[in-house]
Amino acid sequence: MNRLNLIACHECDALLRKPHHSAQGNARCPRCGAILFRSSAAHLDSIAALTLAALITFLIAQAFPIVELELNGVTSQTTLMGSLVALWNEDMQLVAVVVFCSTILFPLVELVALLYLLMPVRAGVVPPAFNLVLRAIQFVRPWGMIEVLMLGILVTIVKMTSLARVIPNAALFAFGGLTLMLAVVVMFDPRVLWDIADALAVRRGGSPARASPGAPPRRHSPRN
Ligand SMILES: [Zn+2]
Repeated sequence: MNRLNLIACHECDALLRKPHHSAQGNARCPRCGAILFRSSAAHLDSIAALTLAALITFLIAQAFPIVELELNGVTSQTTLMGSLVALWNEDMQLVAVVVFCSTILFPLVELVALLYLLMPVRAGVVPPAFNLVLRAIQFVRPWGMIEVLMLGILVTIVKMTSLARVIPNAALFAFGGLTLMLAVVVMFDPRVLWDIADALAVRRGGSPARASPGAPPRRHSPRN
């Protein structure tokens, strides 16, 4: 039996034959009942739509002011990025960098990278640098999960130093919505995309991308 057709259950480690990715319905582990695969076609559409919505919400959250700063008797409202600059100028560079990475950089990388992969794959095309982008998602994912925590830390710090107060505005609600959307987006297992890319390659007469891990990913365009 081809080793690539086997998967291990992530809950109980049972070794099972991989279900065909286009199969309808969810595939469950016969031993412990954990969901191994969800039906992918409808799932890809909803995840792509949700990722796009999350990206728009992310831009709203970043564009509107979230805190009110008071410096020398003058109050001014500023965005999350503006408050990070204020933190930087208050000699809290390390906090500013960590909060920047976890609240802006990593979520943005994950959302843009997912859209970059999902949109072409839905249309039956494997985009360039497919493996590289998928690995980038796996890399930033653990850090993207803590954006809520970091936002809390940021708010705590600016409150403690009585530099700023949080304003209940569009940005704050957008951050709330974004947190919920990201919670659903991170439930999507990007490994499914590797299976779909393999199936696309086989359908077009090539060999599966995973059979040659060192080779650069190919663009699967129609034959001339
Ligand atoms: Zn199991």
